[in-house]
Amino acid sequence: MSEKRTEISEIGEFGLIDHLNEKVLIKNPSTIKGIGDDAAVIDAGEGVKVVTTDLLLEGVHFDLSYAPLPHVGFKAVAVNISDIAAMNAIPKQITVSLALSNRFSVEAVDALYSGIHAACEHYGVDLVGGDTTASRGGLVISITAIGEAKKDQIVYRNGAKENDILCATGDLGGALVGLQILEREKQVYLANPDMKPDLEKYGIVTGRQLKPDARMDIIHELRELGVKPTSMMDISDGLASEIFHICKASQVGATIYEDKLPIDKQTFDTAVELNLDPITCVLNGGEDYELLFTIDQKDFKKLEKHPDIHFIGHISKPEEGKFLVTKSGTAVQLKAQGWKHF
Ligand code: ADP
Ligand code: MG
Repeated sequence: MSEKRTEISEIGEFGLIDHLNEKVLIKNPSTIKGIGDDAAVIDAGEGVKVVTTDLLLEGVHFDLSYAPLPHVGFKAVAVNISDIAAMNAIPKQITVSLALSNRFSVEAVDALYSGIHAACEHYGVDLVGGDTTASRGGLVISITAIGEAKKDQIVYRNGAKENDILCATGDLGGALVGLQILEREKQVYLANPDMKPDLEKYGIVTGRQLKPDARMDIIHELRELGVKPTSMMDISDGLASEIFHICKASQVGATIYEDKLPIDKQTFDTAVELNLDPITCVLNGGEDYELLFTIDQKDFKKLEKHPDIHFIGHISKPEEGKFLVTKSGTAVQLKAQGWKHF
């Protein structure tokens, strides 16, 4: 009899993580939070440490035909810092592990590291170690980031409660639209190498794809304003998918409003040019690295005038479900399409 074989695509990335988590037993009292949030939380006596890791593969997460190596280095750090920010913690250290094929020279590695160093400077973190090995194909970068916070400063995905206000930072959908442009121009170039890619008018969206910035600025501002979100995560797989995560972890429902969703004009115009629905890009685009969080209504006044925090909806009872209210006033059920890796 043949053994049972289940395709990973049948259960998906999140299904696979849940499946792996079933067999995990936490033994140490210092493990405050294991799998299931943006970062793990570890008791460190005085305060807590948060730890997160991300893996980037050439050809899957970045394409060196249009992503310059310094940008790849910066982004590899930024995506980890974004998960530290999502816990309301301050990043302090990173480790960098590399697998390199013989296509890469010392100069190429230096170019990659110039971006890593720039990010370390920008986020105030120290590079404290890593690992280096050979790769049979292409470049692999795995970064681990460590952050610090006081125990009561940590914000999990599971603290949202009914009537809290849902907030999103920055603007959304740009990184996906930027990726579509970079892919289109790559195809044009491959078909005709004499054609110079026409990227000038797409600077904002391609920038969102190639050089995202983790929102540590928002974390510092929330502290200055005395606001602790009730729940938080970063927006890496698309707003809709992240709302599902917050709702599942917090056991709540949510309603968001189309006319409140933040979208940059260039993202909107470029999406239309590409025959994409701008709102679908906002809901299901990936790699925005903005923050999604909920606040108690009492904190609304403190954030009301913030130019880069948008109040996109509210938290409801779990049985009320997850809805998007369109500009015409129709409530449509949210679908968590997310950014599918499998
Ligand atoms: P994020 O998008 O914030 O990086 P992920 O969706 O990648 O988060 O991961 C969600 C949770 O699952 C995190 O706690 C992460 O550490 C954990 N996780 C992801 N992959 C694995 C794995 N292969 N083994 C154990 N834990 C994992
Ligand atoms: Mg995250």
